[in-house]
Amino acid sequence: MRTSDWLAARVAAAIPDTAHGRVLTLSVPGWPGNAPGQHLDIRLTAPDGYQAERSYSIASSGPGESVEIAVDEIPEGEVSPYLVRVAEPGDALEVKGPLGAYFVWHDTDPSPVQLIAGGSGIVPLLAMARARTAAGAGAPFRLLYSVRTAADALYRDEVERLGAAGVDVTWAYTRQAPTGWPGRVGRLDAERIAQATWMPAQHPLTFICGPTSFVEAAADAMVAAGHDPARVKTERFGGS
Ligand SMILES: Cc1cc2nc3c(=O)[nH]c(=O)nc-3n(C[C@H](O)[C@H](O)[C@H](O)COP(=O)(O)OP(=O)(O)OC[C@H]3O[C@@H](n4cnc5c(N)ncnc54)[C@H](O)[C@@H]3O)c2cc1C
Repeated sequence: MRTSDWLAARVAAAIPDTAHGRVLTLSVPGWPGNAPGQHLDIRLTAPDGYQAERSYSIASSGPGESVEIAVDEIPEGEVSPYLVRVAEPGDALEVKGPLGAYFVWHDTDPSPVQLIAGGSGIVPLLAMARARTAAGAGAPFRLLYSVRTAADALYRDEVERLGAAGVDVTWAYTRQAPTGWPGRVGRLDAERIAQATWMPAQHPLTFICGPTSFVEAAADAMVAAGHDPARVKTERFGGS
């Protein structure tokens, strides 16, 4: 399930999901399918030939030539503002992938799974939760999803519904919580991570994804709490 060549793709749908994030469905003839957690590279070419490439996690998985991504706009960024504000159905781009064999969940693995997302880091983790549902897999899943505010959460409605599918979801708000929220507002610390995650004795497989500093802090907290570093898998999106 891997190709090293650029494939021609078209935007099939572009749906706003937050004020600064958009879900894009790409039609990619020849896409070989992908596993939950993998990513692809997108290449944009301007009329003058200038090219820019960026990586995006894939929210969909399995066979088929339709690939879903979700992009959070980075103000002053080069590529994300185009994907969030400008790209429209029918527009052409190129993709390469699927990429990454390490940050992948296999639906045959019965281990408890701990997902920890910061911002747009939800994308590959949602792919894993979706794959669990699609496979009817029984692996116990927990998700800790840290966002600035509820309105900033990509896939907020779908994540809310994961509870009904048996995923234990905990929200964390760094700037402002919804009215009546009983928890503390602010960046996650080791104590709050420990409260919302599996105990080390349960030997979970942990996937952490988001901005670099978020991923490093969460991974350090999990390892300091006694989790096996070999079972704490990380994907960094860049930035701080
Ligand atoms: C494996 C992988 C998967 C990724 N998946 C996703 C995804 O699913 N959705 C998504 O929205 N992004 C994802 N990213 C991030 C994405 O590749 C781009 O970095 C992001 O869209 C910004 O690109 P840009 O061209 O707009 O900004 P740039 O022009 O590259 O950068 C502008 C400024 O923003 C900073 N910056 C770059 N990226 C980030 C970031 N993620 N957070 C904060 N600051 C940043 C840069 O340091 C720079 O100062 C992923 C990155 C990797 C490596």
